[in-house]
Amino acid sequence: MSSAPLQTDIVIVGAGIAGLAAGFELRRRGYENFRLLEASERPGGVVSTAHLAGIPIEEGPDSFLTEKPAALELCRALGLGEQLIPSHDAARRTWIWRKHRLRALPEGWQMLAPARPLALWRSNLLSWPAKARIAREFFSSARAPETETSVGALVRSRLGAEVLDVVVAPLLSGVYGGDADELSLDAVLPRLAQMARQGSLGRGLWRARRRRGANTGAARPLFTTLQNGLSECITALAARLESHIETRCRVSRITKSGEGYQLECHDQAPGSPAGRSLQIHCRKLILALPAWAAAELLRELDGELAAQLAAVPYASSLTINLAYSPAPPLPDGFGVLIPPGEGLRMRACTFIQQKFPARVPAGWALLRVFYGGVRDSEALALSDEELLALATGELRTILGLKQPPAAGHIRRWPRAMAQYTVGHGGRQQCIQAALARHAGLALAGNAYRGIGISDCIESGYAAARKFIHA
Ligand SMILES: Cc1cc2nc3c(=O)[nH]c(=O)nc-3n(C[C@H](O)[C@H](O)[C@H](O)COP(=O)(O)OP(=O)(O)OC[C@H]3O[C@@H](n4cnc5c(N)ncnc54)[C@H](O)[C@@H]3O)c2cc1C
Repeated sequence: MSSAPLQTDIVIVGAGIAGLAAGFELRRRGYENFRLLEASERPGGVVSTAHLAGIPIEEGPDSFLTEKPAALELCRALGLGEQLIPSHDAARRTWIWRKHRLRALPEGWQMLAPARPLALWRSNLLSWPAKARIAREFFSSARAPETETSVGALVRSRLGAEVLDVVVAPLLSGVYGGDADELSLDAVLPRLAQMARQGSLGRGLWRARRRRGANTGAARPLFTTLQNGLSECITALAARLESHIETRCRVSRITKSGEGYQLECHDQAPGSPAGRSLQIHCRKLILALPAWAAAELLRELDGELAAQLAAVPYASSLTINLAYSPAPPLPDGFGVLIPPGEGLRMRACTFIQQKFPARVPAGWALLRVFYGGVRDSEALALSDEELLALATGELRTILGLKQPPAAGHIRRWPRAMAQYTVGHGGRQQCIQAALARHAGLALAGNAYRGIGISDCIESGYAAARKFIHA
């Protein structure tokens, strides 16, 4: 990193997928006068592919939802169209560990309620009283109130505590690492919130499924990934932005300077001379950071905005990839969810060779195990040895897997997943109102309008457009 003072028009802080997307959008529109500053050694943030026994493994996200097009379109625009691979949906099935055995999530379950009542009836996941409660909800005309509520409160009142504890809580924990009683229904599942205000959830989902069935189009895979890992997308973005990116460059202070901003940055290179720092002046600033990191940098500039950002809670998570050869016998399907209260710490386990067969060589199995989340951030403090022993012990319980893995890989992600808790909508309005005081400032990342990769890409595009249209 150069120590000379730098002048540039736009600075993007943070080269996760949101910051990279902002840079990509600037260049796509022919704009070159910007720098992208990243604290770590590599761009990508939590999108990170490593290798284990020669197999590309994902330390963070493993795929994106095909339904949200931004990630797919970005990969195509980067020339990666040939590398895109769909999830093997013919084998899609989710298992839930309940009362000491694996039970299949009934086909057609849509996050909160079943869209196929008959499949639920035949399933052994829920008790008969719980099934009867779901059936009653199907014929109920109750409407959810207009006021914001938590996912947990709605599900408990509509479908009962068993549905919440056994199905909805582990599904939400799998996606958000969050607690159903804290997550906002409107912020996390807006379509289902609307459905609940119109009447029965079960009936709404059943009707929506029938409408979809009537549309004759080729079925989209649920998830899409890249053949050699999601980092392919990061590498391609970084190549497009190469001359603009400064890695190992942590922004530690932002102050107002005339019409623009002054940034103090520190070199994070291992072994770099102590105190090596850089000052950058810019007219416009995009903070593509976790909200808590943006809050720290904005405290001096706008205490109120910083306080609103600091109020967005984050959950920590960790992934363990375990490679097995020869592949042990496993249940079919994409993986297992473990409800809280079943006496295990594991939140979920994905069978990658069954979700994305093209990602794993024949004869191998690759299991991706999740720990942490809002209820168990202490898991991140366990040593690698403790975590490997915990994971292999719990896999033995759940899957009967006695074979030791050929190799294992652990990655901790402290405070990485924004939690859209009750009040998220109001907090966002306050953030937007405070942001309106700063014509030269934009925010992007997973704290605002979606935590998925495509949502973060969209947020980066929107931040870039704020300035190139101005
Ligand atoms: C374990 C895990 C699994 C997930 N699985 C999926 C999935 O399968 N599908 C999906 O769609 N989504 C998934 N997500 C969510 C999604 O990956 C993230 O929400 C998204 O990638 C976040 O991108 P971002 O750019 O907002 O933030 P980040 O990736 O956190 O990037 C922020 C960047 O800012 C840098 N930075 C921080 N402070 C400074 C500073 N002061 N100066 C300079 N740089 C700084 C950081 O080093 C980092 O590179 C998952 C997330 C996790 C953690």
